[in-house]
This record gives sequence, structure tokens and C-alpha cells, in this order.
Amino acid sequence: MMKRLYIVIIVVLVFSACTQSSLQKKEIEEQKPLNTITQTSIILLGTLQDGGSPHAGCKKNCCKNLFQNPDPTRKVVSLGIIDPENKKSFLFEATPDLPTQMKQLKNLSSFAEKETPDGIFLTHAHIGHYAGLMFLGKEAMSAKETRVYAMPRMKVFLEQNGPWQQLVTLNNISLQPLQDSVTVQLTPNITVMPFTVPHRDEYSETVGYTIKGTNKTALFIPDIDKWEKWDTDVITAITKVDYAFIDATFYDGEELNNRDISQIPHPFVVESMEKFKHLSAAEKDKIYFIHFNHTNPLLNLQSEQAKTVLANGFHIAEYGMVLGL
Ligand SMILES: [Zn+2]
Ligand SMILES: [Zn+2]
Ligand SMILES: [Zn+2]
Repeated sequence: MMKRLYIVIIVVLVFSACTQSSLQKKEIEEQKPLNTITQTSIILLGTLQDGGSPHAGCKKNCCKNLFQNPDPTRKVVSLGIIDPENKKSFLFEATPDLPTQMKQLKNLSSFAEKETPDGIFLTHAHIGHYAGLMFLGKEAMSAKETRVYAMPRMKVFLEQNGPWQQLVTLNNISLQPLQDSVTVQLTPNITVMPFTVPHRDEYSETVGYTIKGTNKTALFIPDIDKWEKWDTDVITAITKVDYAFIDATFYDGEELNNRDISQIPHPFVVESMEKFKHLSAAEKDKIYFIHFNHTNPLLNLQSEQAKTVLANGFHIAEYGMVLGL
């Protein structure tokens, strides 16, 4: 009897060791990049709205299978910037997916020795855009003075409210102040300029960024109210850049059970396409829709809506895309 019990225990131990090592192997394979980056580039590290996908509590088809089988390409909106010449990398947004996004950025940076980027830029205090800072704290990696760039209200919010305050007092992060429309030189190849945009500003202001590389310039506006509420003309803004990553939270009213889309404070993709329809093919080619709600049909490139967007000459942001800067 005792002997049989020993055999059962040994079998269970061997089996669990095997499944663990194959699981670990799978995780490592998933994180391994195709190539490291050799020129200043933008890397798309996430394309989802704050709540991600699967979305907490969702019972619809969009997330049904993802609770059991998560899709490793479904990450909350984030851009990585790598300057190999100056051996620097930067992260835009600290999302709830920060651990894998930071690792992916490091893996793509052949020069990187440390696990954290040389700077993290925040757009605003909504969970998808800053809550990932928690992973830099004492309960997680206990980072050492990671530079976090924030606008005045955002900076005060982090300094004065727990648990973020503790990241500041323990020097896990080192807050770097930003000012509206003031350019920051990050490396000889990269400058970044924040600009305020209209959005629900409960805890902080909201900014978009202009990111300038050696050859190209990108516009990053993951969250904004309707284009008409912005004091800058979005079409003029697009003409000044080479890439425009813009808020595409919802595709149309049908996605929200035909609620009146004029009442939802985001530019719908159908509204943006209408606004941009007279742009030249070259201008449309700059536009990458990003920040997709879990319900957004653009997350499925085979959907009719995705085919329409692409046929109209626009891009749909995809996880892992690399664009020269
Ligand atoms: Zn958001
Ligand atoms: Zn869903
Ligand atoms: Zn937001």
C-alpha cells in the first residue's frame, strides 16, 4: 500500500515538473522578438482601450473564448521608442500590461542591460494609461528611480495619492515635469512634445504627444473627445506628421447597441473616416487607428468593418508593428 502511494506521488511530481517547464518554455518563446531594432523606431506594444481584452465581466462573443485562451497580442495601448545609436528606450503609457510590454521593449533593444526603459511618458490618469506604475513599486520589481514624465496635474496626483505616492517617496520613480507644448530632447535623435487635449479630466489633464525622430514624426492621441472639441484642427495636425496614432475606441453606434453616437465622448471611427475622406491617399496612409474597446470590430482584421477601414486607405494598429522614426 505504502509503495503504491510512493509511485503515485512520484508520477504526480514528474508530471507537474514537465508541465511547468513546457509552460515556461512557451512563455519565453512568446516573448522572444523576431529581431532587435537597428534604427530609431516606434514599436506598437499595445492597441486596446484601458479595460483590455478579455474585458472584466464581458459575456459577449468578443471576449467569450479569451478568458480561457488569452491572446498574447491583446495588450492595452502603448508605444515603445528605441534609439539604438544612443542606446536608449522609452515607453509611452504605463498600462496594466506593463510587465510584458517592458520586457518586449528590452528584448528589442540589443543594447539594453537594465529592465526598465530610460523614461516612461504618461498621457493621463485613467487606469489603462498609468496603473502599470504599480509594478515598479515595492510589492513588485522595486525599481530604482525610473524616470516618469508627467504633466503638472498628473505629477501632483501621483505625488499626493497612495499608492503612487509611495513610488515617489521610495524613489522607485523619479518624476520629470512636462509643460504643455514644451519640447523635451531625449537623445540627439528624439524629441517629445506633449499637448493637452479635451477628455474627462477627473484626476489629471490629458495630453497627446508629438514624437520626433531623425527622419519621421509621429502623433499619438490615444484618448480624446470629439475632434470638434479640440482647439487644434486635427487635419492640420496630421499634415505636419508622418504617422498619426489616433483614438479609435469605438467603431460606430451599432457597437454600443445603437446608442446616440453624438453623446459618446470619443471620435467614432466612422466619424473620423468621414472627416478624413477628402484627404489625399498619402495623408490617409499616415493614420493608424488605435485604443480599441474590446467590442471594436477592428480587433478582427477579417471583419467587414476592418476591410472597410483598410479599403478607405487607413491603417489599423496591430501589436508588434515596427515603424522607422
Ligand atoms: Zn484610454
Ligand atoms: Zn468583450
Ligand atoms: Zn481616458
